[in-house]
Amino acid sequence: MKNAVLDRAAKYEKKVVRFLRDIVAIPSMSGEEKEVVERVGNEMTDLGYDEVRTDKLGNVIGRIGKGKKTILFDSHLDTVDIGDPDNWSHDPFKGKLDSRFVHGRGTSDNKGGLASMVYGGRVLRDLALDGGYTILVVGSVMEEDCDGLCYKSMIEEDKTRPDFVCLGESTNLRIYRGHRGRMEIKVTVGGKSCHASAPHRGVNAVYKITPIIQGIEKLNRRLKNDKDLGKGTIAVTKVDCRTASLNAVPDQAVIYLDRRLTKGESKKSAVAEVRKIVQRTGKVEVLTYERKSWKGHTLPMEKYFPTWVLPEEHDLVQAGADAFRELFSRRPKIDFWTFSTNGVYTMGIAGIPTIGFGPSEEKFAHSPLDRCPIDHLVKASAFYAALPTALRGRLTSKGKK
Ligand SMILES: [Zn+2]
Repeated sequence: MKNAVLDRAAKYEKKVVRFLRDIVAIPSMSGEEKEVVERVGNEMTDLGYDEVRTDKLGNVIGRIGKGKKTILFDSHLDTVDIGDPDNWSHDPFKGKLDSRFVHGRGTSDNKGGLASMVYGGRVLRDLALDGGYTILVVGSVMEEDCDGLCYKSMIEEDKTRPDFVCLGESTNLRIYRGHRGRMEIKVTVGGKSCHASAPHRGVNAVYKITPIIQGIEKLNRRLKNDKDLGKGTIAVTKVDCRTASLNAVPDQAVIYLDRRLTKGESKKSAVAEVRKIVQRTGKVEVLTYERKSWKGHTLPMEKYFPTWVLPEEHDLVQAGADAFRELFSRRPKIDFWTFSTNGVYTMGIAGIPTIGFGPSEEKFAHSPLDRCPIDHLVKASAFYAALPTALRGRLTSKGKK
């Protein structure tokens, strides 16, 4: 199988590069993915996918095969903005090409992965490698704003629930199996307003929240470390207050907290730690994301994105390792992301076994150095095409199918 898959993926090199450059040239910030979704859908149709459609939120879904069990390949189509254009040495929306890389916004996060997956589907179809599975290739939306929201919609509203998920976020062609979780918390403290010329008549909400801020700083120091995922962290990211004027005592103060969760930490434990600091002084709440998709659909989602880890010995991780060894004749590196992905929902909330394998490197994401190596696009396509057969082989040998 090895040479056939690699040869076939290499045959599509020019096309996958062309496709990536085309979708990079279509700006697609979160909630504004309409045009890129249409472009991706057309490519899937041209490549002979059995079915191409969009769901309620606006994810584009291409299907190949119709087995009982489903493997879903996900890459998100939205990107972050470009920041200061002067920091770019070329047009971020041109898909600049040199001998080794495609450059531009989204090439590493996550349009390179998407291009590889769309062509991986074609390779798999050419060589009849679906392994008896239904294969879904998904260009998902709104990931940069609210990771996992696209799968909350697909699984809960569209009733499409895959059995296995492979994410195309950059892993530098390593196999990843999890990352830290995160959440956004708001703390509100009330006071009593009065004229600032006689502050003793009121209760200054800013003074009341100050010890809470100090408590958060101390809490960060004692949060635990995990050898795989790194340390849990908490940071005050915004301070606000409500005041009648600059000569009035504020009657409300608010802080926003960014909490990164490591292994063993949950929403419950993280909220309890903050409540212990706040006590009865104020209110603690987890924020909710609520924004319209390009299709005009709003699906509110609590901003709690759980930590997830798939055990290294899991069949999906090992099938990934089998596919990698078969194709590249060496052992893959198995590791974890630093950033967050749609795995917070697929594995973190829905409990669907999830791994990641993607072209390019995390360090280029969201930066003006955003780029994707051309040889990674080809190798990743080959990996996606080989994964279903490897998974089938592993499960069959264990009698699990
Ligand atoms: Zn991403």
